[in-house]
Amino acid sequence: VVRALKPIALTFDDGPHAGTLEILRVLSAYQARATFFQCGMHARRNAEIARAVAETHEVANHTETHPLLLRCLPGTIAREVAEAQEAISRAAGAVPRLFRCPYGVPGLGLGRALRPHGLHNVFWTVIGNDWKWPAARIAERVLKATRPGGIIVLHDGRDVDPAPDISETVEAVRRIVPELLQRGYQFQTASELLCQKT
Ligand SMILES: [Zn+2]
Repeated sequence: VVRALKPIALTFDDGPHAGTLEILRVLSAYQARATFFQCGMHARRNAEIARAVAETHEVANHTETHPLLLRCLPGTIAREVAEAQEAISRAAGAVPRLFRCPYGVPGLGLGRALRPHGLHNVFWTVIGNDWKWPAARIAERVLKATRPGGIIVLHDGRDVDPAPDISETVEAVRRIVPELLQRGYQFQTASELLCQKT
């Protein structure tokens, strides 16, 4: 990994879906790499899209069915992690190394559930509120809050929705990526960014 002066990680949760392909096109136009925290239930149904993501980008684990882990028993958390790990590995053809909690909220026994898979739990530093805001407002918030070494989270899905409308997110990505490049940021996968920090 080349040491970047202004590294930034763009991450997407809750996919993959048909709309994910539009995000891939935007990222490809700027040769920007990102990290996609996928749900096992979505990766199973959209295996070709999961694989298309993994060709260029990092895929990571966002549980099987997107539950609030705080309300889950340790055994349920272990199953959510393991099932998603298997589904994503099979669909995408790449084994996740990173994990992110649904809603950013951990639960009892999460560490024990992640350890056998070698997964590291990753949060974010900038959240775009893209599930409820129009593109201009998402982009404004993200661009204002981004700092070197940050991790931005947007969403290429909406929780368990099998056919989400992510057009505002896609439009926000169209605005955010060229502007951050213009400001001298270098896009890295979340794993690359975290490796560089240690
Ligand atoms: Zn999520």
